[in-house]
Amino acid sequence: LTIARVSLPVPAATPFDYWVPDGLAVEPGSAVRVRLGRRRLVGVAIDLVGESEVPPEQLMPLDEVVVGLPPLSAEVLELARFVSSYYHAPLGQCLALALPSLTRPRRRASPLQNDAAPSAPSHAVHALNDEQRAAAAAIAAARGRFTPFLLRGVTGSGKTAVYLDAAARVIAEGGQVLLLVPEINLTPQLAERVRVTLGNASVAVLHSGLPAGARRAHWESAATGSADIVLGTRLAVFAIMPRLGLIVVDEEHDASYKQQEGVRYHARDVAVFRARTRGVPIVLGSATPSLETHWSASSGRYMALALTRRAGAHPALPPVRRVARRDGNAVEGVGAELQAAIRERLARREQTLLFVNRRGFAPSLLCAGCGWKAECARCDARLVVHRDPPGLRCHHCGHAQALPRACPHCGNQDLLPLGSGTQRLERAVATLFPQARVVRVDRDATRRKGAFDGMRDAITRGDADILVGTQMLAKGHDFPRLTLVGVLGADNALYSGEFRATESLFALLEQVAGRAGRGDEPGEVIVQTDFPDHPVYAALAAHDYAALASSLLSERKSLSLPPFAHLALLRAEARREAAVQAFLDNAVRLGRSLAGETAPACEVYAPVPATLPRRAGLWRSQVLVQAPRRAPLHALLDAWLPALTALDTASVRWSVDVDPQSFA
Ligand code: ADP
Ligand code: ZN
Ligand code: ZN
Repeated sequence: LTIARVSLPVPAATPFDYWVPDGLAVEPGSAVRVRLGRRRLVGVAIDLVGESEVPPEQLMPLDEVVVGLPPLSAEVLELARFVSSYYHAPLGQCLALALPSLTRPRRRASPLQNDAAPSAPSHAVHALNDEQRAAAAAIAAARGRFTPFLLRGVTGSGKTAVYLDAAARVIAEGGQVLLLVPEINLTPQLAERVRVTLGNASVAVLHSGLPAGARRAHWESAATGSADIVLGTRLAVFAIMPRLGLIVVDEEHDASYKQQEGVRYHARDVAVFRARTRGVPIVLGSATPSLETHWSASSGRYMALALTRRAGAHPALPPVRRVARRDGNAVEGVGAELQAAIRERLARREQTLLFVNRRGFAPSLLCAGCGWKAECARCDARLVVHRDPPGLRCHHCGHAQALPRACPHCGNQDLLPLGSGTQRLERAVATLFPQARVVRVDRDATRRKGAFDGMRDAITRGDADILVGTQMLAKGHDFPRLTLVGVLGADNALYSGEFRATESLFALLEQVAGRAGRGDEPGEVIVQTDFPDHPVYAALAAHDYAALASSLLSERKSLSLPPFAHLALLRAEARREAAVQAFLDNAVRLGRSLAGETAPACEVYAPVPATLPRRAGLWRSQVLVQAPRRAPLHALLDAWLPALTALDTASVRWSVDVDPQSFA
């Protein structure tokens, strides 16, 4: 009798045994269908053995092997094991990340067919400049060895051209390249650029927005080695790639590389691990690297490569003007200087991007009579006013209700929307500049499939004068006629209690500023703020990442925060506040006593409410664990988490987040 040890995507620490009926060809790594209780699940056979500890009469047979799916390679099995142990997540859930979606019947689709090719400008292939050539040569020289690079290049410096040059050399020698990007929206244009630049290279695209059939076909072309380049979002880091020769993580600082539920892995960090075990170079690219990566490069563990100038017609970065937010002539928050600058762009038929990182009409609704504010009944959060379509919505739990006609508290009919979101700004510019073509780009406006691609194409063709958008427009896009970027409402981020808030605000602003002046005409940036001298705006005006990074790093050092310490967050939530409190109190007591025995260097802090203490009716609190090195942190988690399972947690949902990005 052959027994398959099957790891299933359920919260269990150990695999489940099934006997293998005659004629089923199972090998380690095979995806198999089995029954668990009443459920039918897909799991991965991680081992084949001769006997089981389960009594034979209780053993169930394997139902089937998923037809035509190549087994996970030994390397990807090892990668999943690493992710499972590093993020303290069940192996079956980590293995599930490496499988394509198997929910729908199989359809054949060839690479790229399902990723609509944009009618974007054609991508000119330029000869590399000196800085680009030096960077590409350094990467090429590292082939066949684990070498981590930080490619820090200002916006528009041509990082992509460096990636593709290095990729071309790897492919020419028979290797495969894994190229990770932070946003689904960036994949079609990048795939197109790869095709133009690398001629006949075959590209597989992997992201969660692909239909299941296409995703599976692309996954297979990576796994069989027929794809030369695998281009995708964070889940692509698990693609089977038999000839992997180079990994590139574009915009490596981007928070979307961290999965925020289930297995809370960070795709950049997993990619670095993978490059090390495969013995291949990895390039982390950014204009504003994460402080962790920056620190690794400045302390010599990563090799630093720099692109200091823009590659196109205007080597200088756009000048940044900081202007007062309060302004007697402002219309709905658009001040006089910004209005004048937009008017100039309209006259010259150039484009303006107005960036406000809030969707909806206004972030809150206030009663002018009694001071009542519309709040979500299930969250500790204000309801956001929407006009398109009208209503109040909670951006945390999705709750929606009609706009009230009068204050439910005092009956007053004078209700004021406070603050400004994309919809309000869109209306304001439409009123100010009635002749202008205004396009709003945010999650609400792009919900329909293909909507974003359509807008991007229209903007690129010049069928838009003013773009109003959230961070969806900040990343990666290349609009040659865009010469003015206006930033509104950025001050809000300065009030955040998150330890990465300043770092991420700077990254976002530098990125959005970087959209200006990428074509033939020079660009300009106008930031409306109450705090023009704040270090983050000063650094933006000087485009001085390094200065800001070093001051943030010394702050991190004095507070023992990453990269000078390692963190894990134990999060818990429950319907009753007292249940969360009791669970975390017990957890802390247990954690402190275990730390005393196994990891004295670890600090287990007292429970505190999450940044959003109540969401969708659940009370949320958390415990921070801080350690000077990784080893004691993991030693503590290894002892602590299994012990937590033994606590009475019927009413409490808890999870651990290693290297948390935020305390939200
Ligand atoms: P980044 O990713 O660093 O922001 P991109 O790779 O998108 O920059 O390049 C920015 C622009 O500069 C693109 O339009 C690209 O075609 C152009 N470009 C890149 N390299 C060169 C070069 N060597 N000479 C001229 N233009 C270039
Ligand atoms: Zn009132
Ligand atoms: Zn809510």
